[in-house]
Amino acid sequence: MDNLFARIIAREIPATILYEDDQVLAFQDVAPQAPVHFLVIPKKHIATLNDLQEADKALAGHLLYTAQRLALELGCDDGFRVVVNCKEKGGQTVQHLHLHVLGQRAMSWPPG
Ligand code: 5GP
Repeated sequence: MDNLFARIIAREIPATILYEDDQVLAFQDVAPQAPVHFLVIPKKHIATLNDLQEADKALAGHLLYTAQRLALELGCDDGFRVVVNCKEKGGQTVQHLHLHVLGQRAMSWPPG
């Protein structure tokens, strides 16, 4: 296994799983930055948003739609934030593409 999130997909590391299908996995962030904070990842290894290929466009839509559906299930009808940190300057620390979904608190802009 080449990264932390691959180990979560393989159930080698425990996580609170919110949703899973053949293409994506969603689970609670271990260090939540909001009352709702979960991650949506592709099961296929894509290291960063920069590594997304044309063939991954449907998968990218599926990731985003999964984020929206779960956010609504978790009561974020009044709004939420989806973030993708890309590479070092973007603040990415885990080298497996992931969408952060944060909700149930007011968000400010711009981010730091
Ligand atoms: P990044 O900084 O790469 O955008 O976000 C990585 C996220 O993964 C962070 O929010 C961090 O809290 C979360 N994270 C790191 N290690 C683990 C872990 O072992 N389990 C879970 N569920 N989340 C993790």
